[in-house]
Amino acid sequence: MSKKNILDFSYEELMAYMTEELDVKKFRVDQIVDWIYDKHVFEFQEMSNLSKDFRDFMDEKFFVGIPEPIDIKTSKIDKTTKFLWELRDGNTVESVALFYPKRVSACISTQVGCALKCAFCATGASGFTRDLTPGEIIAQVLAMEKIKNIRINNIVYMGMGEPLLNYENTIKSVKMLNDKRLKNLGGRHITISTSGIVPRIEELAEIPIEIRLSVSLHAPTNIQRDKIMPINHKYPVEELIQACKNYQKITNKRVTFEYTAIKGFNDSEDDARNLAALISDLKVMVNVIPVNDNPAGFEKPSKRFLDTFARILINKGIDVTIRAEKGSDIEAACGQLKKRFIEKQ
Ligand code: SAH
Ligand code: SF4
Repeated sequence: MSKKNILDFSYEELMAYMTEELDVKKFRVDQIVDWIYDKHVFEFQEMSNLSKDFRDFMDEKFFVGIPEPIDIKTSKIDKTTKFLWELRDGNTVESVALFYPKRVSACISTQVGCALKCAFCATGASGFTRDLTPGEIIAQVLAMEKIKNIRINNIVYMGMGEPLLNYENTIKSVKMLNDKRLKNLGGRHITISTSGIVPRIEELAEIPIEIRLSVSLHAPTNIQRDKIMPINHKYPVEELIQACKNYQKITNKRVTFEYTAIKGFNDSEDDARNLAALISDLKVMVNVIPVNDNPAGFEKPSKRFLDTFARILINKGIDVTIRAEKGSDIEAACGQLKKRFIEKQ
């Protein structure tokens, strides 16, 4: 029988499997969980309160699926750190740790590549290879904590891939990050970002953890959105907004709209007014992100355009932030992950 990745098991699954199938005592399971999730020890042989026989037994049955860091880059400007991981099958994904005065935030990946091919996104340009397992998703967090000797207290699913197209594994990873016995992170410190997979947004409203939802809108009309986000042909703007309304009706939570601002494409005063009208019935926050370096060659709007754009929204009573770019010197910003590897191919 092949070894199992212990990180793919929820707490309940691990307890049931180890006590019922492997005949291990309950407290032993808790010791192992504590070593992995609290002490960040990922080798059974280093778990010093377990007998040698039991450590060998664990090595026979399981492995702790921590990825290999093959490249770590730290920004000289703001300490933002980008990690390139090698998975067991040789595929690679990236994660980013972002340092703020009182917290550390991690941006994690859910897929190797992405099938959705948004025009401005380097991950999309690399195509889709496969989904990550729940263990591969949470391992990014554990590995960053261990390498940098930090505790991550905020997680955004904004790395490579579309989380809601890897729905089951993403939700399982969220539950495990939230589980008091595992990572113990509150739902309000977990954000899922989606390009707008309408049926899954409605499902997400029903999960028992109150996470934050971020929707990558980027354009206020179908004509514009079709041009930069092929997924819009399947789930057009009006359906997406309706899904957000349904989500809000159930969760009563504010939704964040990500708006990647592109010079001469979606940054005009009319665009701002159209956007304000589109979301007027929703409790929202709009995050304007000047587009980062991208495969399509789109350019950032000038500061004057961004300020005018934001001012129009603010005057309509909408909360707006213009996102400060972090890690720009190491290409760690949204949509830049995997870029270097595409260039190499
Ligand atoms: N697939 C999900 C989550 C990963 S992308 C999604 O699309 O939401 C995370 C965020 O980065 C999204 O809002 C995405 O639109 C944005 N993004 C991608 N490429 C970008 C770029 N070149 N500049 C700015 N934001 C970008
Ligand atoms: Fe995929 Fe998100 Fe990139 Fe679009 S922006 S290609 S959905 S990762």
